[in-house]
Amino acid sequence: MTAIPVVIGRRPPVIDRAEASDLHEADAASTALIDTHGRVHRDLRISLTDRCSLRCTYCMPEQGNEWLARSSILTLDEIERIARVAAAAGVTTFRLTGGEPLLRADIVEVVRRLAAIESPSGPVQLAMTTNGIRLAELLPALQEAGLHRLNISIDTLRRDRFHDLTRRDRLEDVLTGIAAAQASSLRPLKLNAVAMRGVNDDELVELVAFAIAHDAELRFIEQMPLDAGHTWDRAQMVTREEILETLRGRWTLTPVPGRGGAPAERWVLDDGPHTVGVIASVTAPFCGDCDRLRLTADGQLRNCLFSTTEYDLLPILRAGGEVDAEIDRMLRSCVRGKLPGHAINDPSFLQPARGMNAIGG
Ligand code: SAM
Ligand code: SF4
Repeated sequence: MTAIPVVIGRRPPVIDRAEASDLHEADAASTALIDTHGRVHRDLRISLTDRCSLRCTYCMPEQGNEWLARSSILTLDEIERIARVAAAAGVTTFRLTGGEPLLRADIVEVVRRLAAIESPSGPVQLAMTTNGIRLAELLPALQEAGLHRLNISIDTLRRDRFHDLTRRDRLEDVLTGIAAAQASSLRPLKLNAVAMRGVNDDELVELVAFAIAHDAELRFIEQMPLDAGHTWDRAQMVTREEILETLRGRWTLTPVPGRGGAPAERWVLDDGPHTVGVIASVTAPFCGDCDRLRLTADGQLRNCLFSTTEYDLLPILRAGGEVDAEIDRMLRSCVRGKLPGHAINDPSFLQPARGMNAIGG
């Protein structure tokens, strides 16, 4: 069976048949996932659900979200199957995300199954990005099941702002989750914050100090055009330079060398040991070193957050037959179709139809 990648976007969906004919026999080779620009892909972000306990303005609409059909959500067995094929092709890190991954009823079992996977270079690393709600309750089981690393998102420490920003009054639950993570042995611990003008840009120093007090690294993220309402405005975005300028008012920043394919640039604060990171996807894109692929909760492979092409694994998984070989071919086709970079800064940029919660951040 040959599955066909689908191009999505605000245009009516069309089938990209040139991509379909791109599925060569060579794609079945069991070598590393190297794209046409020489980038080796070792990191798979797995979205477990598009559902969420919050409604962050930069990600989801307040109401009227079009949820993925429940019947299309990948099962535990399907996720494990894709992950095993990816690991055999050289993927060494899985990051569980969403939506909110902790809303998934079988989350502990997902962690257990994926943490047990071996890639040719050894056991995989398993990380999770979460909004922290339900973390305190689930963390012992997640750790016991094999979770290695955690990123927790927190954009403000003020309850009224948190409510405005997420449309939910859940700051206390997030803080409880962060406290549980601090008390655990999971390290390094990272806290993510999207910097927003007029919303939390007066809290940047406070957020870093909060992270330090919780033995964590704060990582600021430039806001990207991935909100469901398509209201992103470049002029309103808080840039990497502005973030650094604010932090330099409080600390001396010394760059940490050896970034590799990591999305965050990092700096040591004063004489250390604490650090801060900035993920500047818009003003300083790191596409040249990108080693990531994404799997949506409904089984679509994506080679970029901003891609308008998806590679559909659902029919492959549910038709039976040479499933693993077909998944492998689709992975390779997806990698081969990867562009050198995203085009956020290009006037012709087309925002993906899916919001961040349905792609997986
Ligand atoms: N619900 C979990 C959470 O919030 O951590 C995991 C999914 S969320 C989509 C993953 C990360 O993406 C979060 O740190 C969130 O702040 C970030 N994010 C979401 N929309 C974004 C946007 N438009 N620009 C930049 N970062 C965004
Ligand atoms: Fe939910 Fe995370 Fe999106 Fe916020 S950023 S709405 S917590 S998926």
